Amino acid sequence: MKDIVIVGAGPIGLYAANLASLHELDGVVLEGQESIGGQLSALYPEKDIIDLPGFKKITAQGFIDALKEQMNSRVHPLPINLAEELKEFQPIEGGYLVTTSKGTIETKTILLTTGMGVFSPRKIGVENEDTFTNIIYSLKDKSQYKDKTVAILGGGDSAVDWALMLSEIAKKVYIVHRRNEFRAQSSSVEALDQKGVIKLTPYVVNRLIGEKEVSTLELQDVNTKELKTLDVDAVFVNYGMVSAPTSFPVEKVGPNIKVNSFYMSSMENVFAIGNIAYYDGKVKNITSGLGEAVTAITKIDQIIHPNKNIPIHY
Ligand SMILES: Cc1cc2nc3c(=O)[nH]c(=O)nc-3n(C[C@H](O)[C@H](O)[C@H](O)COP(=O)(O)OP(=O)(O)OC[C@H]3O[C@@H](n4cnc5c(N)ncnc54)[C@H](O)[C@@H]3O)c2cc1C
Repeated sequence: MKDIVIVGAGPIGLYAANLASLHELDGVVLEGQESIGGQLSALYPEKDIIDLPGFKKITAQGFIDALKEQMNSRVHPLPINLAEELKEFQPIEGGYLVTTSKGTIETKTILLTTGMGVFSPRKIGVENEDTFTNIIYSLKDKSQYKDKTVAILGGGDSAVDWALMLSEIAKKVYIVHRRNEFRAQSSSVEALDQKGVIKLTPYVVNRLIGEKEVSTLELQDVNTKELKTLDVDAVFVNYGMVSAPTSFPVEKVGPNIKVNSFYMSSMENVFAIGNIAYYDGKVKNITSGLGEAVTAITKIDQIIHPNKNIPIHY
């Protein structure tokens, strides 16, 4: 039986895992997404964070990378199981049986750091979208689009970055955005013209046409409502992320988990910290969540090792 299962590898889960390895707890981190970082990596990786202690500024992704590096420097870092979502947990003798999307784990304690829930890419929202095999929500391997005609949907920094990356290899690249102005950095938007990317604004997708693959994209002009078609080999969707919170059988205040001063929920030895936790005066930011991790991990160590002399400083 594990000492601890930490659920979520956002900043607070990662820091809690760091502390758990310092306390020499035997545990595992479950992360529902295929990558770590929570809101910082999914929603604002390039943003400069200026309210963390000790940093004049650090990008959100830079902070996640630093937490990961710190964790990997530990003698026994906790493993992080990516793409493994906590589904439910039930009390058993001496702890809990945790059921995940991949199996079950027995653990003495659970630390929920599930924040806004598991993120997934926002879809186009048109009929039959899920039946096509050439709609891509995350650009991993651009080489397979060599000499192809592709359309990128979206107007933010990463949509523009994808368009620029694909323009190096594809035959033709369209970028389709519902507004006339792109939300990306102006230097990147200027680079679209230099790289020959065709900007189509203000357009939205009206229909996807094809058999197993989308072969034609039907667009509609937002102002005139006129339709236009594009022949494509692949469609890249970059409309940001949506989150789906998981519900747990603990006392809640709204969507958040009510905790006591040790961050224990209404269920014995099930703790919650970070954005998912609720108590009077809770501030939903990174620094407050990091402090909560210290208290919760210390308490968990005390519960598991009642006779251990637990250091306050390392
Ligand atoms: C645009 C924006 C800017 C911000 N700027 C700042 C700032 O400048 N300074 C600051 O201090 N704060 C800032 N915040 C707030 C900060 O991002 C949050 O306080 C912080 O992300 C909370 O971290 P967390 O680890 O609790 O949750 P999250 O970051 O939400 O991470 C939760 C993780 O848990 C995973 N998860 C959820 N459910 C499950 C499940 N059932 N099974 C497995 N994994 C699961 C998710 O996939 C996710 O990775 C900002 C927030 C936003 C949206």
